[in-house]
Amino acid sequence: NVRVRFAPSPTGPLHIGGVRTALFNYLFAKKYQGTFILRIEDTDQNRYVEGAEQYIIDALNWCGIPFDEGPGKNEKFGPYRQSERKHLYKKYADELIASGNAYYAFDTAETLDFHRKDHEEKGKTFIYNWHNRLKLSNSLSLSAEEVKAKLDAGEDYVIRFKSPKNETLHLKDIIRGDIKIDTNVLDDKVLFKSDGMPTYHLANIVDDHLMEITHVIRGEEWLPSLALHYQLYKAFGWEAPEFAHLPLILKPTGKGKLSKRDGDKMGFPVFPLQWTDSTTNEVSRGYKEDGYFPEAMVNFLAFLGWNPGTEQEIFNLEELIKAFELERVNKSGARFDPDKIKWFNHHYMQEQDNQILAEAFKKERPELIDIDTEYMALVVGLIKERATFVNDFWELSHYFFVAPSTYDEKASKKAFKEDTADILNKIKDLILHIDDFTVTALQNDIKGWITNNDIGFGKVMMPLRLALVGSLQGPDVFEIMFLIGKNETINRLTAALN
Ligand code: GLU
Repeated sequence: NVRVRFAPSPTGPLHIGGVRTALFNYLFAKKYQGTFILRIEDTDQNRYVEGAEQYIIDALNWCGIPFDEGPGKNEKFGPYRQSERKHLYKKYADELIASGNAYYAFDTAETLDFHRKDHEEKGKTFIYNWHNRLKLSNSLSLSAEEVKAKLDAGEDYVIRFKSPKNETLHLKDIIRGDIKIDTNVLDDKVLFKSDGMPTYHLANIVDDHLMEITHVIRGEEWLPSLALHYQLYKAFGWEAPEFAHLPLILKPTGKGKLSKRDGDKMGFPVFPLQWTDSTTNEVSRGYKEDGYFPEAMVNFLAFLGWNPGTEQEIFNLEELIKAFELERVNKSGARFDPDKIKWFNHHYMQEQDNQILAEAFKKERPELIDIDTEYMALVVGLIKERATFVNDFWELSHYFFVAPSTYDEKASKKAFKEDTADILNKIKDLILHIDDFTVTALQNDIKGWITNNDIGFGKVMMPLRLALVGSLQGPDVFEIMFLIGKNETINRLTAALN
């Protein structure tokens, strides 16, 4: 019974890396008919940002990867916000102290600072560990009476994990294989603070255990915490879940980790949805508002670190669930290519319903409000092959709605010859007499006329297109004439002839 969780901290909008983590969790859960859980890790009150949790939920929903269990939904293992689970954690910290796996430490920030600087001056790094802990103020170096006195006096404390000396830990990661860690390099991480809040490490392990998580799938930045997490499971006597750490997402240049700041700087969004910073009012762009389809985003993100081992690149969610395997996730960083998601968007554009696209087009161009949506859907069907975004539609199709008022100069020189007026007049006459105004009839009659009169095809089609479109762009001329209709076709030819 697979149970996985996505456990973001609500410190701001979810960026693309977070969405990728959520997606891989989702795919893995669905592949094994498991449960995808959303847990909000908000123990760090200083970094809490209003609206971030809702943003995370909205982003998952927009991508089409909703959680099965989480805040306000199937709360079997709830609450799912760590701030609402606050009362739970102290007892586990106490348990670790009782079993000798953790201890109280009373060092002030100044003391720790002093040691850090002192070490620095000697070219060393200060680590709170087996080597240094006895020199500091904690329950391993103080007498029981001293510790009790400090606690009774209400002194600030933290509870630290007592990392063992001279042990080798054997960790397992589904993506990275076996990892060996010498405990002598580890520090005694803080698990709990006297403000009553657990740190990430303690809350994360306790909740993964209580929520019966079977697989932890998260970003590579958490790999250094794995040793501690393993030790915590062991100290509690709990069975650890399996772990999979997803590779970093790299900047488009391939150099360095993609950061939240790269987006606007480099001209592409790093957020799924738009986000307005409530303190600075700064707006960060989102893929949704930039005109991306969620299918494109999902397909693109799936390939950031994973591949199916075949040439196939187009996968809908259903197919991804089938094909996805954690064993096929790479260890090395995945380069973020903003052109690739455009390529996916172009692909998924072709699969969208034209009626829906027409409605989106209408929203984009209020001047089209009175135009028949049915008609717009037909237009969209003709031009979307060249479009990546709904945003591109107007540029590609304005002549379906407004007659050209100018004609491309270069094209005119090429298309309009001495006999062009005469030819266009004859074509106009021909069109005027087509009663059955269909693409086939137009095609047959005009092509027939060209062949019968032994005129070069381009000599007719080029000026004809220019008259209708204003340039040499656009889809099939016969389709254009059919869609704008007989009257409009005649009008445009007349206008071009004047
Ligand atoms: N709260 C952590 C984060 O923001 C969760 C890490 C984990 O999945 O263990 O990414």
